[in-house]
Amino acid sequence: MTKILVTGGAGYVGSHACKALAAAGYEPVVFDSLIAGHDWAVNWGPLEVGDLLDRDRIAAVVQEYRPEGVIHFASFAYVGESVTNPGKYWRNNVTGAINLLDELVACGAPPIVFSSSCTVYGMSDADYLSETLPIAPINPYGNTKRAIEIMLSDYEVATGMRHTILRYFNAAGCDAEGEIGEDHDPETHLIPLALAAAAKDRDRLSIFGTDYPTTDGTCIRDYIHVTDLADAHVRAVGQLLEGAKSNVFNLGAGEGYSVRDVVDAVGRAVGADLPVQDADRRAGDPARLVADISHARDVLGWSPEHSSLDNIVTTAWNWYRSRRQIVGA
Ligand code: UDP
Repeated sequence: MTKILVTGGAGYVGSHACKALAAAGYEPVVFDSLIAGHDWAVNWGPLEVGDLLDRDRIAAVVQEYRPEGVIHFASFAYVGESVTNPGKYWRNNVTGAINLLDELVACGAPPIVFSSSCTVYGMSDADYLSETLPIAPINPYGNTKRAIEIMLSDYEVATGMRHTILRYFNAAGCDAEGEIGEDHDPETHLIPLALAAAAKDRDRLSIFGTDYPTTDGTCIRDYIHVTDLADAHVRAVGQLLEGAKSNVFNLGAGEGYSVRDVVDAVGRAVGADLPVQDADRRAGDPARLVADISHARDVLGWSPEHSSLDNIVTTAWNWYRSRRQIVGA
């Protein structure tokens, strides 16, 4: 079976990608520190616990499995924390990536899919963001993603290692079969926090900013179901294994919803209105981030199939409810 090394495969998007890889006939080999990931999320191949900052450890895993392809998710991903502690992000995300790339080069330079983010576009005014826009992140987290994107190009020039960069918009929703789902600690994302408020596990949801130049004054985002994201990774790695050239793709639903739209959808899914409170803007939030996904449609042959807002919220609610019973929230 074709082995794919999946760094961060015990995390939210990574675990959904592993499930999709296994369904497509690959063997996902997970390398994860379990700092943010969960061992219960690794169900489709071996788990190698390790940190990319431990160069000997990643070297040993790469040499043991000799993967034919790689998907690199492992990363710290809290924008706010990256602002107050940039060193933590540069060290972990960028030094970790250097260690990984160097060990891959030593093992034949297999092609790599890199999980990047729409945060690299910064505060763009474009209605629909395309991959050709200038890259101008506005926080350290985004800067680490940009740095790794640049590194991948430099490594390709030097070694021939091909790459696919996937820039996610707002990953959301959970596996329809309820095997895996979103479980961050702390949780900062809108949909799980709104679900917690609707379930009365939190007092209320704060709406960060109600005076944006949008239809209802709240921020607009492009929510993409994690199962659709997972499918894009399988396509990307498959095309690289067939010899595709390096590329970069936006992954979103191509549609924007406001914070209030999400609140309404959560109310529908849960069957209960949720207490909300208007709050100040959160620093660094652009008013609108919506993807132009034509490049992924054209080249990856990918299109979002699970990303209606109601399906995203319903699958997230099903997962939230089942976890709540397990952890006794
Ligand atoms: N948001 C909010 N209240 C919250 C969390 C998020 O109003 O408690 C808003 C946030 O300002 C943004 C949107 O919801 O406009 C999505 O935020 P999230 O943190 O989920 O993802 P981001 O877009 O920051 O990656």
